[in-house]
Parts: sequence; C-alpha cells; structure tokens
Amino acid sequence: MDYDTDVLIVGAGPVGLTLANELARHGVVPRIVDKSPGIREVSKAMILHVRTQEVLDKVGVASRLAQQAQPLREVVVHAYGKHIGAWDLDGIDSPWPHPMILGQNRTQHTLLDHLAGQQVAVEWNTEATALEVSEAGATVRLRQGDVEEAVRCRYVVGCEGSNSLVRRTLNFTFEGERYSGEQFIQADCRIRWALPKGRSYLFLTADGYMMVIEFPDDVVRIFISLPDSAVAPGAAEAAGQLGAVEATSEEPTLAEIAHHLTRLSGHACELTVNRHAKGTPYRRPKGTPL
Ligand SMILES: Cc1cc2nc3c(=O)[nH]c(=O)nc-3n(C[C@H](O)[C@H](O)[C@H](O)COP(=O)(O)OP(=O)(O)OC[C@H]3O[C@@H](n4cnc5c(N)ncnc54)[C@H](O)[C@@H]3O)c2cc1C
Repeated sequence: MDYDTDVLIVGAGPVGLTLANELARHGVVPRIVDKSPGIREVSKAMILHVRTQEVLDKVGVASRLAQQAQPLREVVVHAYGKHIGAWDLDGIDSPWPHPMILGQNRTQHTLLDHLAGQQVAVEWNTEATALEVSEAGATVRLRQGDVEEAVRCRYVVGCEGSNSLVRRTLNFTFEGERYSGEQFIQADCRIRWALPKGRSYLFLTADGYMMVIEFPDDVVRIFISLPDSAVAPGAAEAAGQLGAVEATSEEPTLAEIAHHLTRLSGHACELTVNRHAKGTPYRRPKGTPL
C-alpha cells in the first residue's frame, strides 16, 4: 500500500493533541482531524496531577500551563459539620510538587499552540466516517463539508473520546463501571460566602459530598455528589432523610447549586456566572460516564 500519511489521529481533544505533539517531537509528522469547528470552550477536566505535569513537561508545555494555572496545595476538609483538617497535596518529590487547576480548554489551547510551533495544524470540521483495516495499514474516509477523501495511512489512532468510530469498527470494548445510586452536578462560577478565598474545600456529609475547588481568575469549580433517589438502594425510605433527589438530565440552575452548597456546607452563599472560564453548569445523572 502507498501511504498518504504515516499516522492519522482522529480527534483533537487533549489525548489527540498530546499524541500529535509527541509524534512531532520524535520526528513523525501526523495528520490530525477533528469534526468540531475548534476547541470547545468549556472547562471539563481541570486537575493537572503531578505525574501529568511531568509528562507534559516532556511534551514541552508544563511551564506554560503552570503560568496559567491555580496551584492546588491543600484541600480543607469538613466532615459531618466539623472542620477536621487539611489534605496536604504539596511537597511531592517532583519538579512539579503539587497538582494544578486549569480548564481543559486552556490546556488544549496550549497544546494546540505548541503543535503549531512544530508545524502541525489540526484539520477542523473534518469527520472520520469509515475505517477499513488490512495487514498493510488503514484507510479512513474523511468528510469536510461536501468534500470526501480516502486517506491511506500506516497507523490510525482513535482519540475520539467516549463514542469512537475507530473503537467501534475494530470491536474494541470500552470497559468500565457505572456508578449507580449517585448523581453529580457541577458548575464553574464566582462565589461569595463566609469561608476564606484562595483555598479549596471538601465537605463530607450524610447527605452527599461536595468539593469547591479554586480555579484561576477568581472562579471556583463546585462539584456536588448527591444520592439519586431514583436508583439508590433503599432510596424510597432513605430519600427524606438523605436529601436524595431524583436525577434528571436538565442543566442545573445556579439557584439549585447554591441550595445544595448551603445545605452541605452550612454556609449561605451567592453564586454568579463566570464569564471567563465558560464552565457551564452540568449534571451527570445515573452514573453516565464522563
Ligand atoms: C461536562 C464535562 C465535565 C467533565 N469534567 C471532568 C472532570 O472534572 N475531571 C475529569 O477528569 N474529566 C472530566 N470530564 C471528562 C474529560 O473531559 C474527558 O475525559 C476528556 O475530554 C477525554 O479526552 P479525549 O481527548 O480522550 O476525548 P475528547 O475530549 O472527547 O475529544 C475527542 C475529540 O474527537 C472528536 N471526534 C469524535 N468523533 C470524531 C470523528 N468521527 N471524526 C473526527 N473527530 C471526532 C471530537 O469532536 C472531540 O474534539 C468531563 C467531561 C464533560 C463532558
């Protein structure tokens, strides 16, 4: 087979962008396509763990990410209404001694810029629609608007996230377990409450748990896990007592999030929408995998 490209990466999320950078760094110039018009401006995965930073340092972007990120050095823990201490995340034996908080879109933009510096551009609005594989390589059909193209490649790498054409075509399983009995709601917003700013918090209660994590730009990520009355074992009896609520797929309102935040933390709060990180309120009911 004559190849049009050695490696075709399908999907320019954080995984595809990291791979494209690494290939380019090692002298392999990939093609990378994504069906979206560009990076989706939502914050989604936001913790850069220490090991992730070590890997991204090799990629060449860790310092630039650190300049934009908010360090996560400790998490103040409240359990059953009492302040019980702090979870120390600092001083890890690494050049990157603590996790960093940064919206996924900003991580992706940094990876995309770095990739451009290696003379590789993402082909946006380009969808992989079919894949054929043989001993010699793979042929991927790409569609950009009305234009179709068959690309012969030595390797095709499926980086298309949870609903993957490559995985489906090759009958790879996507193993994992769903949480049941739990639902999550999360939002990035600005908060006014009695607790000191510049710190992150974990609240453990009988009614669920909640994290309030400090983002850059005076924004917090609020993550609330609640028992799901529709699926929790023994939910019917426990519902009143546990504060269980039936999961829905509707976007949570700030008022709803503020209500749960006050209930779980014991502190009144005022939440306002964040205009910078564009993290939309999000609900993940009935254990839908991220
Ligand atoms: C609202 C939300 C909040 C989240 N919060 C967190 C969190 O707090 N912590 C955490 O760890 N994770 C979180 N996640 C999960 C995290 O965002 C994903 O694990 C991560 O994005 C996966 O990266 P990826 O590169 O594998 O895939 P994706 O980011 O899904 O990227 C896949 C890319 O492939 C493209 N694509 C798909 N199919 C095709 C095709 N056929 N042809 C061409 N392109 C295609 C898509 O357009 C997309 O750009 C969250 C996810 C969501 C939706």
